[in-house]
Amino acid sequence: MIVTRFAPSPTGYLHIGGLRTALFSYLWARGNGGKFVLRIEDTDQSRNSEEAAKAIVEAFKWVGLEHDGEITYQSNRSEIYTKYIQQLLEEGKAYKCYMSKEELTALREEQMAKKERTRYDGRYRDFKGTPPEGIEPVIRIKAPTSGEIVVDDGIKGRVSFQAEDILDDFVIARADGSPTYNFVVAIDDALMGINEVIRGDDHLSNTPKQMVIYKALGFDLPKFYHVPMIHNANGKKLSKRDGATDVMAYKEMGYLPEALLNFLVRLGWSHGDQEIFSFEEMTTLFDPANINKSASIYNVEKLDWLNAHYIKNSSNEELAQLLEEYDIFLKAHDKKEILLDALKERAKSMKELAMLIKSILETPTAYDDKAVKKAFKGDAMEILQAFAKKIETAQTLHLPSDYHHEMESLVNEMGIGFGKIGMPLRVALLGEMSGPGLDSVMAIIGREETLKRIANAVSALS
Ligand code: GLU
Repeated sequence: MIVTRFAPSPTGYLHIGGLRTALFSYLWARGNGGKFVLRIEDTDQSRNSEEAAKAIVEAFKWVGLEHDGEITYQSNRSEIYTKYIQQLLEEGKAYKCYMSKEELTALREEQMAKKERTRYDGRYRDFKGTPPEGIEPVIRIKAPTSGEIVVDDGIKGRVSFQAEDILDDFVIARADGSPTYNFVVAIDDALMGINEVIRGDDHLSNTPKQMVIYKALGFDLPKFYHVPMIHNANGKKLSKRDGATDVMAYKEMGYLPEALLNFLVRLGWSHGDQEIFSFEEMTTLFDPANINKSASIYNVEKLDWLNAHYIKNSSNEELAQLLEEYDIFLKAHDKKEILLDALKERAKSMKELAMLIKSILETPTAYDDKAVKKAFKGDAMEILQAFAKKIETAQTLHLPSDYHHEMESLVNEMGIGFGKIGMPLRVALLGEMSGPGLDSVMAIIGREETLKRIANAVSALS
């Protein structure tokens, strides 16, 4: 069974790039009947891990990802780490190093002067003497100092490292006994049964170290997939300014979770040239072996396009529910269908949809100057008033077609073009020139409100 994980360090929110790796891990496990677990890597950070976990779970909930079982917190597992450190010491695979800070600095400087890579020189590896006084030792693991280390990566293929270029006997426990990052990641992945690790390729250089730990403890290696980073349009690593922010900020900007997930799954992964993936589809089709070898480019137009697609294809019930967050309550509105049908094709975000709806439902309090100048030329005011008469006396006024019929009969009777009534009427009803079809607008707001808006405009603009 495939077991994957998402292992964020606590930052207090879930980052968009983090959500992408979480999504990849989630899809790969779920699509294969496996498990997807969540581990908070909070050994180094003093930031509040509970809060960070809450923020992640909240974001997961919004997009519809679910982790299996309890959340693992590294900060609760120090006994486990201590036990393995002890085991490695007893087996002679790790040792205490009493090098002082000064000695370490001197070694570094010497190596830098010789233009060598700075690394620990193994001086306490076989130390049998009396330890120097007053120094709390760190624990170092015996790592190979020569030979090749090969990461058989599921995305990058065979990645070879020379031990002498990348390894030394690195610290697995600090002088205060606390374990180090690579040590706990390897232990946890192994003990939690993670057999497929999907993570950002900024971690690739950690992998040889983690492999040393797996080997020393006799754990089976997982399959690694190192996912190339997300870049901005300039080919640089995505920054906060480019949109590398809190997932929940995307909710606030009015993105639908379906659109965001669809956008993220395509950042670095593809299935032919398909662009639209339902959640079920991505779960079935996703395979980390098809992740691109090169960085992906974050393109907000694409996200907006997907968002517009998902808004347009949402049912009116779903939209009415979501709009309640914007203080728009349409569930009992008798013209809900007309309203949403008229507007959902025009909105790139829920925020925009909410604004469009408000611009129709709220009586305008001001009129756009330019629009007024353009619309109220010649006998526009008389035409508008004549139209009001028609609306006042019309028999049936319910559907957009009923209103259309009244407009049509007006232009026929007066021998004018549609624009002659359309423009002043649009300004009267909406305060500006843009917006959906006027017949829909009038059907939505109804006869009384239509008349009221015309009267308001006549008195304000005469
Ligand atoms: N905690 C690491 C991070 O947030 C991820 C570790 C891993 O995936 O191996 O970058």
